[in-house]
Amino acid sequence: MITAYIGIGANLGDARANVLDAIERLRGAPGCTLDAASSLYRTAPIDSSGDDYINAAARIHTTLDAEALLQTLQGIEQAHGRERPYRNAPRTLDLDLLLYGGETITSPTLTVPHPRMTDRAFVLIPLLEIQPDLMVPGKGPAASFAPMVQNQGIEKLD
Ligand code: ATP
Ligand code: CA
Ligand code: CA
Repeated sequence: MITAYIGIGANLGDARANVLDAIERLRGAPGCTLDAASSLYRTAPIDSSGDDYINAAARIHTTLDAEALLQTLQGIEQAHGRERPYRNAPRTLDLDLLLYGGETITSPTLTVPHPRMTDRAFVLIPLLEIQPDLMVPGKGPAASFAPMVQNQGIEKLD
């Protein structure tokens, strides 16, 4: 059993419903159990366009290897009609594999820890909500990056 962390974002269609559905699909995915899900957050697009994003983070336990887990995440994106017309395009649903146990992975399809996770308030703040003492392999405590993103606007929704 591996503990993995997933970053969830959406800014097309009913973004809030898409994020909530993604959490439910993670709960029901073969080889996965949902252990924790953060609150939903609203953030303005960065290096991107379109409506505000809804973001969240989830902690799962999984028996899948990392590549199979990525395929599961992409299957959930596809169920929401995810398209990739250009980099950072608005999206109905984006699921990033942030952490996979304590592993460091570099393959053509997968880089873990997710290389941009510690730069982004919309990833870091939901993650710290569910795991304040989270360690990022090769980088140290996730909380140590929070001061660097405090200028990025993020609003917790109830
Ligand atoms: P960013 O990675 O900056 O958040 P993005 O989520 O918009 O950008 P996508 O178009 O969703 O990027 O993904 C592009 C590719 O990134 C995917 O096809 C996948 O193979 C690869 N990838 C590499 N590492 C990861 C990871 N840790 N989680 C998800 N996808 C990854
Ligand atoms: Ca992403
Ligand atoms: Ca992605």
